[in-house]
Amino acid sequence: MTRWMVSPGEIPSAWFNVVPYLPAPPASPLHPATHQPVEPDDLAPLFPAALIEQEMTRAPWIEVPGEVLDILRLWRPTPLVRASRLEQALGTPARIYFKDESGSPAGSHKPNTAVAQAFYNARAGLRRLTTETGAGQWGTALAFACAQFGLECEVYMVRASFEHKPYRRVIMETWGGSVVPSPVDQPDHPGSLGTAISDAVRAALGRGDTHYSLGSVLNHVLLHQTVIGLEAREQLALAGERLPDVVIAPCGGGSNLGGIAFPFVPEAGVRLIAVEPLSCPTLTQGRFDYDFGDSAGLTPLLPMYTLGHDFVPPSIHAGGLRYHGVSPLISSLVRDGRMEAVAYPQGKVFEAAVHFARLEGKVAAPEAAHAIRAVIDEALAAKETGEEKVILFNYCGHGFLDLSAYDDYLHGRLHDEQG
Ligand SMILES: *Cc1c(COP(=O)(O)O)cnc(C)c1O
Repeated sequence: MTRWMVSPGEIPSAWFNVVPYLPAPPASPLHPATHQPVEPDDLAPLFPAALIEQEMTRAPWIEVPGEVLDILRLWRPTPLVRASRLEQALGTPARIYFKDESGSPAGSHKPNTAVAQAFYNARAGLRRLTTETGAGQWGTALAFACAQFGLECEVYMVRASFEHKPYRRVIMETWGGSVVPSPVDQPDHPGSLGTAISDAVRAALGRGDTHYSLGSVLNHVLLHQTVIGLEAREQLALAGERLPDVVIAPCGGGSNLGGIAFPFVPEAGVRLIAVEPLSCPTLTQGRFDYDFGDSAGLTPLLPMYTLGHDFVPPSIHAGGLRYHGVSPLISSLVRDGRMEAVAYPQGKVFEAAVHFARLEGKVAAPEAAHAIRAVIDEALAAKETGEEKVILFNYCGHGFLDLSAYDDYLHGRLHDEQG
């Protein structure tokens, strides 16, 4: 057996909220102008009440609405796969499992929250959503979700990607979204996630029928992603495993990592590892402080690891990992020692991705490849010690729209940026 499934009728019907299980209660976000703790009313111009409630709740479980489950079932449950060929090639006693989130319509984990966010906005009577996207993964996810609920979707795309990576724009447009390069007011600026968030927030504040949607970082986004870890737990049991010893995922804003790792936070023996690029080392080299989520300082100040809201990361291939901050929930787990973080240069990441592709057949998104790098190193460490470690990682997306990155690696044009 190499794949385990639960039936579509058994996908998780409640999201898992990690907040009550954190070592210390999270600090409140602060209003950008007054620096006072954010109140629900402060967020109302941007988000529907149900999502604001989820952002602040301490309830351990939140029911998933039936309308959301119906759409998630278009591709969920996702398979849990044992990477036995990788194990054999490494000669490791470790057992390596991955949760394959690459089969969603957008090819990544991101639709798990896009669908929920579009649902709550549609139910609250909104007609349009704005958002930002880097390389385009989040924009595609939200465009898909908006199409399901008849919402208009306006995506501010980091200009460098808009110009050099047209295919995700085409997918967004196919699903009915409109795509605008950011920053809108500086046509010579390559843009960053920070500038695109500012543009999308401004556009939402300007119209009563429009809200803003964020693809990572916020508590409710990570909450929606916990379907990944909850399913994985069931599937590991079907595979005859009790718990993983280590859970590994790449970390940009923290949503796929939170999604797979949070359901294991209450299990003290399970190690949790965040993997980030050396060129954008938020958790490994940033400072824990209040900072804005965007470059213009329009969002609330979040308590998180940050490289500074004006940090513009070098343009590495793992576009989804180029963000100056990281989820406050992930940040607090790292600060309090419940989660570890490691950083890799992209050459070592692509070396692992190509190794994995030749053994397991899967061409990973550059973001997912960061996890594969760390998994291989954990499995080699287990070989040294002879430990029969169970490793679970998030295969959070495929790399079919990132082939130019593979092309660069395979033909010696990929250069490491040092952090
Ligand atoms: C967006 C994205 C990421 C980074 O975002 P997180 O919120 O940290 O998960 C990682 N992997 C893939 C495939 C993505 O699309």
